[in-house]
Amino acid sequence: MTRTIFINATLLDGENPARKGATVVVEGGRIAATTPVPPRDGDSVVDLGGRTLMPGMVSGHYHAVYGRPGGKPGYTRDADPVQQAYWALGNAQVALRAGVTSVVGAATFDTIDATLAASIDAGDVLGPRFVPASRALSPTVKDNSGQIISHVLQCDGPEAFRRGALLEIGRGAKVVKIFAGEGHGQFVGRDMTDAELRAAVDAAHEHGVRTRAHVAGRDNVLRCAQVGVDILDHADGLDDACIDAIAEAGAFMVPSIYLPFVALRNGGKGGSGYFDQASLDHSCAMLGRAIEAGVKLVPGDDYGAAELPHGTYAKELTCYVDYAGIDPLEVIRWATRNGGVMTGIADLGTIAPGKLADMLVVDGDPSADIALLSRSERLVAVIKDGKVVSGNLQARQGQPALA
Ligand SMILES: [Zn+2]
Repeated sequence: MTRTIFINATLLDGENPARKGATVVVEGGRIAATTPVPPRDGDSVVDLGGRTLMPGMVSGHYHAVYGRPGGKPGYTRDADPVQQAYWALGNAQVALRAGVTSVVGAATFDTIDATLAASIDAGDVLGPRFVPASRALSPTVKDNSGQIISHVLQCDGPEAFRRGALLEIGRGAKVVKIFAGEGHGQFVGRDMTDAELRAAVDAAHEHGVRTRAHVAGRDNVLRCAQVGVDILDHADGLDDACIDAIAEAGAFMVPSIYLPFVALRNGGKGGSGYFDQASLDHSCAMLGRAIEAGVKLVPGDDYGAAELPHGTYAKELTCYVDYAGIDPLEVIRWATRNGGVMTGIADLGTIAPGKLADMLVVDGDPSADIALLSRSERLVAVIKDGKVVSGNLQARQGQPALA
């Protein structure tokens, strides 16, 4: 089988500090070696000239159905579902070109996540690896004019949540999203009861499907961790007891501080403007404790919301470093190693022998300057399954390294 041998790379493997002068061998869509190998006839050799090779990034909270590609105006949640699906495909392709080679859905409309994921897996359309979410299951929720919101599956009572979860699993969801309680920009109306939480989680787990919860208040975070929710989104009000419970459960947490950060810098205006500075400060302050406790943190946020156009995902990583004070290598681990595990796809998220060859070539070292990942001209190539899907790499003898 033809191999591609990347030489003279600065290797950020998703785990360890950068290693200069590295060799990475790709064969059949996987990493074959991270040490020099004797050349064989037919090998393509790509001299990276010191550029960085790192795993493709994972967005752990991704709404393909939010917003229009390029952040264009005119988006509405009540648009025709077919129109929504085209926008979702466009958004997914924006993510791939931005170096996000895998996404974990955080709630969809209709069956758009599941059908898009199936189309990508079948090779019908290009996109990132896609773990499809359900529609959001929520206690009955109304908009400001008193209308019941149509894109959320209204569930009241444990049996309704169980049926809702099963319906969505039957429609292809691999992650069931629940609105456990209000806060972090969401008015739910009421908190889910313990029995409702258990019903949704148990129904999903019976079918090998995971759950994720929009959750903000301290008590709700604790309840979600204790009942076995697999992914906790936002968790604004968490305290030490919550962190211990999340760590003990082995759950993932997506702190998603970037939307509140941007909304507050915009003067609290805009579609998601009801955040407060004290809550954001608290979230940032708890991150160090969460890392110490071994909580599996993953980046991801509500891109497609008015303040966060799709494509700006890596700015969130800069926010964690520059604003929250997290070490850049740690943030890179969240976006690669932890994100890879969160997808549930085997062998994803680091560059090591046997792993899937989803990688980025970056001009410069993101562990020294995380903002490089936000600069499209520095993202030389995006590689998925060992193939260049965006950008350009030239092999020796002027041949394309990867087709
Ligand atoms: Zn969301």
